[in-house]
Amino acid sequence: MVKENLAEVEARISKACERAGRNREEVTLIAVSKTKPVSMMEEAIGAGIVDFGENKVQEIVDKYEAIPQKLNWHMIGHLQRNKVKYIVDKVCMIHSVDSLKLAETISELAVKKNVVVPILIEVNMAGEDTKFGVAPEAAPGLVEAAAKLPGIRVNGLMTIAPFVENPEDNRIHFRNLRKLSVDITGKNIDNVSMSALSMGMTGDYEVAIEEGATMVRVGTGIFGARNYAVPDSL
Ligand SMILES: *Cc1c(COP(=O)(O)O)cnc(C)c1O
Repeated sequence: MVKENLAEVEARISKACERAGRNREEVTLIAVSKTKPVSMMEEAIGAGIVDFGENKVQEIVDKYEAIPQKLNWHMIGHLQRNKVKYIVDKVCMIHSVDSLKLAETISELAVKKNVVVPILIEVNMAGEDTKFGVAPEAAPGLVEAAAKLPGIRVNGLMTIAPFVENPEDNRIHFRNLRKLSVDITGKNIDNVSMSALSMGMTGDYEVAIEEGATMVRVGTGIFGARNYAVPDSL
């Protein structure tokens, strides 16, 4: 099932790139494997996927140990400062930095482990109470402050758009995140690149690609619906 789903997602990504006049290579598909077993991830690996997204520290650590292949692990969920130490040298990117304190903790531990961790600033574009992320107005300041820290590199912005029936309703949020990244690029802050725009999930990744996403995070569309009540075994 994973292979078929991936083929479908891949075709849709290609079409969205075509519509937007973009190269397929500009968009990284991150397979969001949270709650899903290693066996399903291995199917995805067999189909050529190397980028995986997870939102829980423990799950990254467990799966990291269980899978021998070298994969790109993306931390996409809310991250508590006391757990950074478990993943700082395992992940290829932390998408969910939404405070200077968290950036400082990542920085400290990255320096200790002699790594440089690419991070994205998570922005709450729709101002939803239920979501993490900084307000758009606060993003440039956080980027500027985080850029001064050693051991991390600000690589761009991330957003989790609202859950909507019609993906067109999220176009404005994706467009505004892109505008925000262009504004921040214009500030020419040292040690900052705004090359990554992590936006778009199963319901809206095609619209996100049309609006400039460089990373889409697709879970359900690849692995099927998640069941949080009964945790999948590894
Ligand atoms: C779960 C999750 C996704 C994937 O959501 P789907 O709708 O299943 O594609 C993407 N991004 C984040 C931050 C998530 O937590």
